[in-house]
Amino acid sequence: MNSEELIRLAESRSAHNYHPLPVVIAAAEGAWVTDVEGRRYLDCLAGYSSLNFGHGNPLILDAAREQLDRLTLTSRAFFHDRFAAFVSGLADLCGKDMVLPMNTGAEAVETAIKVARKWGYEVKGVAKDKANIVVMEDNFHGRTTTIVGFSTDPDAYGGFGPFTPGFRVVKYGSVEAVREAIDENTVAVLLEPIQGEAGVLVPPEGYLSAVREICTDNRVLLVADEIQSGLGRTGETFACDHEGVVPDVYVLGKALGGGVVPVSAVVADEDVLGVIRPGQHGSTFGGNPMACAVGTAVVEMLKTGEYQRRARELGGFLHDRLRELAAPREGRQAVVAVRGRGLWAGIDIDPSLATGRQVSEALMRRGVLAKDTHGSTIRLAPPLVVSRDDLAWAVGQLEAVLREL
Ligand SMILES: *Cc1c(COP(=O)(O)O)cnc(C)c1O
Repeated sequence: MNSEELIRLAESRSAHNYHPLPVVIAAAEGAWVTDVEGRRYLDCLAGYSSLNFGHGNPLILDAAREQLDRLTLTSRAFFHDRFAAFVSGLADLCGKDMVLPMNTGAEAVETAIKVARKWGYEVKGVAKDKANIVVMEDNFHGRTTTIVGFSTDPDAYGGFGPFTPGFRVVKYGSVEAVREAIDENTVAVLLEPIQGEAGVLVPPEGYLSAVREICTDNRVLLVADEIQSGLGRTGETFACDHEGVVPDVYVLGKALGGGVVPVSAVVADEDVLGVIRPGQHGSTFGGNPMACAVGTAVVEMLKTGEYQRRARELGGFLHDRLRELAAPREGRQAVVAVRGRGLWAGIDIDPSLATGRQVSEALMRRGVLAKDTHGSTIRLAPPLVVSRDDLAWAVGQLEAVLREL
């Protein structure tokens, strides 16, 4: 079947919870993908940062293949020989005592919420069922009913209530708003150090460290959802590193699975994660041998600092080029704002010229895969293995698309 036929069949037999670009990918290597007709595209989405290390990264594939032939699943009813290396390696990478492995990002966020509440009751001494968690406007933490219940995006929460109580939504980037929302029953502040789905929103400088201080002063856990921002994307291992901030709890996912399997985790010290005892939380697939083999390879790759360095250097180049694109030319300014850090950019197009969707479609026709988010914003997040020449070429294609608007 050709692309058109495959799309027609897919659309008629699957729920329309996504609105994909009309491209059918059949193979990939590094930063490039190939569709069923053999056309090649530079992947500037990288599976929403799940593919930080590129498609078919040999180090990750070798680990996965070797594991596939030996042992794939045990459940946590038993230990397996890949578990110890993964949890100790990841805990060390985060500078924390322990890891609770799950599969998807949303599960890890749910896990962090449960851990924070239980910590609140058992350690902080919050009265039964009174715990609250401060969260941010325009957050994205996943798609479960509890998580969408504190989303401020009507598409995400509309029609899915009633919702779990116990969340307070405040303005992202406002230190004062966090301070005012916290009371004696607050157990955690949950935030993305850079809001990805909201359009790669970078908070004002000093925000994360101020929130860190407020959390410490009020005995509140700072929970950083680094599912998209973490593991090299921004030029550091974690986006929190840019402000020298160490959260109490890291929530990780996406790139932790190396683009091969879903792997997520909550990482914290023993005084926090230790509140979970046998039977109180779990996952049949969480921490399985395949996940641990791949996750261990990812941790090993991040230990070298090579990928963080690439994201930093190529990110500097990307943002320089995007700033040039944002400068008014002949009285015309198609790009109204550029944000981001490392190999991660949100680009706001003048909404009177085009929607983000239209720009993404035009880029696709020129061999660049990117995705819009919210109206007229497109985001660029190529695999960290992308070459400088390919990146320059992709920005050139964006420039050409903008010129044609
Ligand atoms: C993608 C994402 C999630 C959800 O991860 P899933 O694996 O899709 O459940 C949560 N938080 C952030 C910041 C994300 O980018």
